[in-house]
Amino acid sequence: MVRLTGVGRSYGDGEHRVHALRDVTVDIGPGELLAVVGPSGSGKSTLLHLVGTLDRPSHGQVLVDGHDVARLDDRGLSALRAHRIGFVFQHFHLAEGTRALDNVADGLLYTGMPRRRRRERAEAALRRVGLGHRLGHRSHQMSGGERQRVAIARAVVGEPALLLADEPTGALDTHAGGLVVELLRELHRDGTTVVIITHDNELAAGLPRRLLMRDGRLVDDIAAGPAVRLRNGDAT
Ligand code: ADP
Ligand code: MG
Repeated sequence: MVRLTGVGRSYGDGEHRVHALRDVTVDIGPGELLAVVGPSGSGKSTLLHLVGTLDRPSHGQVLVDGHDVARLDDRGLSALRAHRIGFVFQHFHLAEGTRALDNVADGLLYTGMPRRRRRERAEAALRRVGLGHRLGHRSHQMSGGERQRVAIARAVVGEPALLLADEPTGALDTHAGGLVVELLRELHRDGTTVVIITHDNELAAGLPRRLLMRDGRLVDDIAAGPAVRLRNGDAT
């Protein structure tokens, strides 16, 4: 699904140069569920942006779904993102004042699908995340946990193969965070490749694979034992 080879990303010049990512080589297979962990500033978000084709590397090669990101123009990248990748962020990134149904339906604008069809799909996605009773609610009328579930519905309404989440539980209390994690696991069970950046050790420990970042480097790649894989339903 994703292959990074010798990937680096730096910002700025001269003495202000920051090496956000250094020489990262890693493969993420289709259908994996994994955590990216590490201290603040270790390059986790930079890594996720590169994997999500929101950014291009300074060095090395990024392959996503068989496409070499460097060989795609902006239109090609937008198309790859729109059709294959969903994003979830810590602070939801929903349009304020817009109803949940429309926030999710807008995730399908690129498809050229008629409005009615988009709204049907959006309603189904909201039901899937347990928000069938909040279709007409606007962001400020919902709790943080509900907003994040709307954001997840929007991220998956186009059925992406790859779901990238940057601290999706970071702004939530334990209960709401637990629901979000359960939802991400469910999407993984249904076949989506899911990558979760998290500071929550308990969350990370429960996932089948963890990438540990430090100072821009990938310093460890830990796979859990077969028992955990079995619980996640992805044993071979
Ligand atoms: P993390 O998500 O692990 O906290 P980031 O990937 O956001 O870390 O950042 C890694 C390093 O790169 C940090 O030192 C950060 O300050 C720097 N960095 C990230 N984005 C930029 C940017 N757009 N311009 C300059 N420096 C950046
Ligand atoms: Mg970050």
